[in-house]
Amino acid sequence: MYVIHSLRDKMKRIQSPSSINTYFQCPRKYFFIYNLKMPTSPSIHLVRGTIAHSVLENLFVIEPAILSENFENELKIISLELLKKYWAENKKDLDVLGLLEEELNRYYEETQMMMLNWISHFVKKIKKETSKGLSISEAFVKLKPQTEVLYSSDEFMIRGYIDAIEEIDGEIRLMDYKTSKKSEITKEYRLQLGIYALMYQLKHGMLPHKVGIYFLKDAEKLLEVDEDLIQNAKFMIEQIHMSTDGMDEIHQYPKKESPLCKWSNGQCDFYDYCFKGKLVPEKPLR
Ligand code: SF4
Repeated sequence: MYVIHSLRDKMKRIQSPSSINTYFQCPRKYFFIYNLKMPTSPSIHLVRGTIAHSVLENLFVIEPAILSENFENELKIISLELLKKYWAENKKDLDVLGLLEEELNRYYEETQMMMLNWISHFVKKIKKETSKGLSISEAFVKLKPQTEVLYSSDEFMIRGYIDAIEEIDGEIRLMDYKTSKKSEITKEYRLQLGIYALMYQLKHGMLPHKVGIYFLKDAEKLLEVDEDLIQNAKFMIEQIHMSTDGMDEIHQYPKKESPLCKWSNGQCDFYDYCFKGKLVPEKPLR
């Protein structure tokens, strides 16, 4: 019994919010990406998301004492400088997208607006703290989150990076940054946040108070952490392990046809394998 259990555990694979969401979007797509390790095409949204994350992560590395009464402008300038830096550092990834220069400029300007928008919200929080008597640098330190923190659980075989963990006046919030068009906590985002809350609880023995998303085009949206959120995360983690652990055959991962297979100006990376008879690799590519 022990041997069987150990073998089964060895076959368990580590999942992430992203792999779980891919599975529920389409099991066949999951198979291509996570079993066969087939690459997906880069997209401006992915590259731009990475750049925006780098800016917000590094914004908090500054020395708070440098902030003066003019801190709103200073933070805006710093964020735009960081954007310029990370945009240039990701030039290779941006170039392979083959976008026209004006398209790329439009995305750059849009990202600038996102950063300035986020700073405006952050500045309001700093002002709230200074109105209670804190200095600007004290307020900055108080609001400074832990960024890009890796959480994992051997029990649930799950791992993921939390973009920002904030602890303000005893309230803990786990936040994710999104550059998406719509500012809506979809069921996929809800699952991601539920998994973060669960991993936080497993590590610290307590639940965070809130989880949420900074929609960079708009504002933050929060969810209370309740039993329903945690139970949903546990259920979905259990489902993914039941559906994928020890399963290596393509037929165990059915296609799920949806508008995500093909749309007006594009198609899923694996469309030709699913619907045009393109030969599927027999072994993982990596
Ligand atoms: S083309 Fe459709 S069915 Fe095939 S992997 Fe993509 S989403 Fe799934």
